[in-house]
Amino acid sequence: MSLQNEWQKRDRKVLWHPFTQHQLWEKEEFPVIGRGEGIYLYDLEGRKYIDGVSSLWVSAHGHNHPGLNQAITAQLSRIAHSTFLGLSHQPGIELAEDLLKIAPPGLSRVFYAENGASAVEIALKMAFQYWQNRGEKKRKKFIGFSTGYHGDTIGAMSLSGVELFNQVYQPLLFEVWRAPLPRCYKCPEDRGDCEEDKWQCLAKLKILAEEHSPELAGIIIEPMVQAAGGMIVQPKGYLKAVEMLCRQHKILLIADEVAVGLGRLGKNFACELGFVQPDLLVLGKALGAGYLPIACVMSTEKIFSAFLGKHHSDRTFFHGHTYTANPLACSAALAGLELMKKEKRLENVNARARQIEQWIPKFKQLPIVFHFSHLGLLAGIELIKDREKCVEFSPEEMIGLQVARSARKRGAILRPLGNVVVLMPPLIISESELEELMEITFESINEVGAQFIAPENRA
Ligand SMILES: *Cc1c(COP(=O)(O)O)cnc(C)c1O
Repeated sequence: MSLQNEWQKRDRKVLWHPFTQHQLWEKEEFPVIGRGEGIYLYDLEGRKYIDGVSSLWVSAHGHNHPGLNQAITAQLSRIAHSTFLGLSHQPGIELAEDLLKIAPPGLSRVFYAENGASAVEIALKMAFQYWQNRGEKKRKKFIGFSTGYHGDTIGAMSLSGVELFNQVYQPLLFEVWRAPLPRCYKCPEDRGDCEEDKWQCLAKLKILAEEHSPELAGIIIEPMVQAAGGMIVQPKGYLKAVEMLCRQHKILLIADEVAVGLGRLGKNFACELGFVQPDLLVLGKALGAGYLPIACVMSTEKIFSAFLGKHHSDRTFFHGHTYTANPLACSAALAGLELMKKEKRLENVNARARQIEQWIPKFKQLPIVFHFSHLGLLAGIELIKDREKCVEFSPEEMIGLQVARSARKRGAILRPLGNVVVLMPPLIISESELEELMEITFESINEVGAQFIAPENRA
């Protein structure tokens, strides 16, 4: 038995993996990762894979980066952890300072969390309590978007609209009003223009906001791109229109940038691209530079000051996690922010974004490719069984998974979202490395798609 097989066997005996149907896992050939270097992952047999999804969207600066290693080791020799309850530490303070330097205007306070979902819970509680503290006790409700995703804890699930993930838990969730988000491409047409959709969706959102405005605490949105919902890019001007509606009805705007914040879209923040200034901004994933789990919520001074009061006041924000502001994680995040500037990440992201764009016509020639969405160094390739007749792949066909398996044989790790093949490589990826990833993705979709082409139409 090979070394890798041996570890697979041990894994299957004791583990329960996230988002995994274990009846299939028993037969799945999964790599056991031993190390990483730059954009590559290496399994125990020494096979090399491009990390096509940045280890679930986190490894912005690649693996085993000397700068990050050094920063963490230096902090480790001082202290690994001390609490943020009643005490403070330098990496936590410095990280907040550096984040606020680049944050959208108006944000002035940083509250740390350990992961995206708990950061979303924090934003939710802050928005809720803000209105309670201000005496507007009726403002208790939230608007979320269909196909939005905010994490897997109960509050975050309530805000999310991705049905597959949340359906079973529905009885546990609280009520959230759901607004539609424009989708510029609906079978049979990939129109690429969605002014009409945009205005219809906005009109519906407007009605919701107007009807419920005295009860509304906030609107939560993934700015510019709904990531886990299938890499759905919002049409120009949509985010701005949502912000204007929030201002008009005094509703707090919560921007969940866990997936897209810190450079993924070619700017430090997605809100910059949409020209909006949120009241609360949630960061996670890439914040820990792909090294350590850390997330945060940034808030305005207006929200922060509504929580000021006497000792034991119920105006206090009663929230905290044991590892809040872990110093090692803060030092990794700090070093990551430094690398963003020093190694000119945004420049690379924008150059690679143009490179992705050049591949689109080629992908669209593949019969099972329906839509190619992209923004910055992020792409989602939606597959369809029959483009002419608008027949979608059924979940049982596991089309995304088939493509991922095929890509793995060719040397790239992909993690699809249903029928959408996701590309989210590390922000450091070079021109030739991205070319290889695009080539592998193209070949894999081509191979998997061949089984759906009628024999008479095959070239
Ligand atoms: C991943 C994600 C979350 C949840 O983050 P976790 O760290 O997995 O809890 C929340 N919001 C968005 C937009 C995400 O992509």
